[in-house]
Amino acid sequence: MTAERADARIEDSAGRAAGAASTASGAHSTRELAYPHWFRKSEATHNVARGIMQYGPIARTPLAQIFDLSQGALSRITSDLIYDGVIEEMPAGSVQAGRLPEGFELHESSERRGRPQTALRIREDSHTFIGVNIHDQEITVSQVNAMCRPIGSELTEKIEGTAPEAVTAQIARMVAQCTDASAPKPTAMGVSLGGHIDDDRFVTYAPFLYWDATVDLGALLQEATGIPTKVFNDLDSVLLYECWFGDAIGVSRFAVITIGAGVGYSLSAHGNPIDNPDKSYGLAGHVLIDPEGPRCSAGHIGCSQCLTSDSIAEEYSSIIGHVATFQEFEEDLAANKPQARRLCERTCYRLGVLVATVANLAMPSRVLISGESSFIAKKNRESIRKGIDAFRHSQAAPVEFTIPNFTWRLWSDSAAARAIAAFIS
Ligand SMILES: [Zn+2]
Repeated sequence: MTAERADARIEDSAGRAAGAASTASGAHSTRELAYPHWFRKSEATHNVARGIMQYGPIARTPLAQIFDLSQGALSRITSDLIYDGVIEEMPAGSVQAGRLPEGFELHESSERRGRPQTALRIREDSHTFIGVNIHDQEITVSQVNAMCRPIGSELTEKIEGTAPEAVTAQIARMVAQCTDASAPKPTAMGVSLGGHIDDDRFVTYAPFLYWDATVDLGALLQEATGIPTKVFNDLDSVLLYECWFGDAIGVSRFAVITIGAGVGYSLSAHGNPIDNPDKSYGLAGHVLIDPEGPRCSAGHIGCSQCLTSDSIAEEYSSIIGHVATFQEFEEDLAANKPQARRLCERTCYRLGVLVATVANLAMPSRVLISGESSFIAKKNRESIRKGIDAFRHSQAAPVEFTIPNFTWRLWSDSAAARAIAAFIS
């Protein structure tokens, strides 16, 4: 987050009460938005369904042990879920293929003797979901099944107009275009953006869209598309996607750091984003990472803003002696030009320092590096490691970090992942 964005936040909180009443969407604010649930059962049943989603295909014995249930109690729950069409048994003889929680060890159980262990899985093709991600100047829309697996190709377009009504109309058109007519009609839609969202529908802060008052985006989109809609913070969505369907399944504490137009950070515990009312304001945006780094717009020297695309472009310009865009830096780096390579090395080292800071204070067992300029991080893992090691005790466990290939589709699918999570909770 830049200083300008931090300032905008102050204005926003001051103007929020007045703004809420003056928006076009203000009229909807008291009406509850209907949202479907796959089933309504005991908390234990919902936990088991979620466990099958995360760790499945999974047999009954480990499932019972993960949730501390007797085999009998678990069998009743799984029978209910099979009856409701939420889960199904895998064909006999198929093996458990899912990833189990970190540190989980299966105890041999006497009840297990002689009983074939059939693995259970979610009936993933029974429902589809739409995911929408609004990012810097673009919108990406995609469709997934109930296990968040992609259906068809995604659609990305430039934002035509940033007014709430224009964004709504564009998304509605894109959703209609993107929906596969041969798949089940979308059950729900998840929308994610960089900003602050209340009650999974009211956008109170959205720096990329320049909205100066609260917008009931959930209601606007639900009305325009006819699809039950929830709106989420983009980073929390990526975090939940990784914990339920991606790299962080079973990881007890997991952090995501993103680099791109801004610097993002989010943390999860046991598969759920850690909640804090202030976290969507970019709390890791101005952390000191290089005392000799460039000055940010808030006046700090070497804070984490130096990982943003604008700051990298500015630093690159001063290195090569003429004004360059971030894209030029990207091209020069692809062409392996020495000056670009050195700035990449320095940037990766700084990123490593940020990863070490997060690892030391929040103690996640894994860190994911993402965001639209995470390709820089992929170029020089060694410098990231050096940055981490410089600020990590030599006897502390090495920090595990992964850098998946970045696509905006992953972010739109992640928004759908949260819609799925709400559907089974
Ligand atoms: Zn700063």
